Amino acid sequence: MDRIFSSVREYDRQVSSPKSCRTCDEPATKDVLFDVGNGVAVVERYCAHCATTVSDGIGTRSSA
Ligand SMILES: [Zn+2]
Repeated sequence: MDRIFSSVREYDRQVSSPKSCRTCDEPATKDVLFDVGNGVAVVERYCAHCATTVSDGIGTRSSA
């Protein structure tokens, strides 16, 4: 599934609904939004470090 990095926003619902980072087990502090087409967006939760990695990596993975 193609998905295009859209934006990162603060994840501020941690108190009521704690989540773990998608790629590590740190507490998630960022919502990362992806546009998957047809006006549909998906949100994945990451810690601050992984959110940076994700947002930097998508669209620029010309080399491994
Ligand atoms: Zn993480």
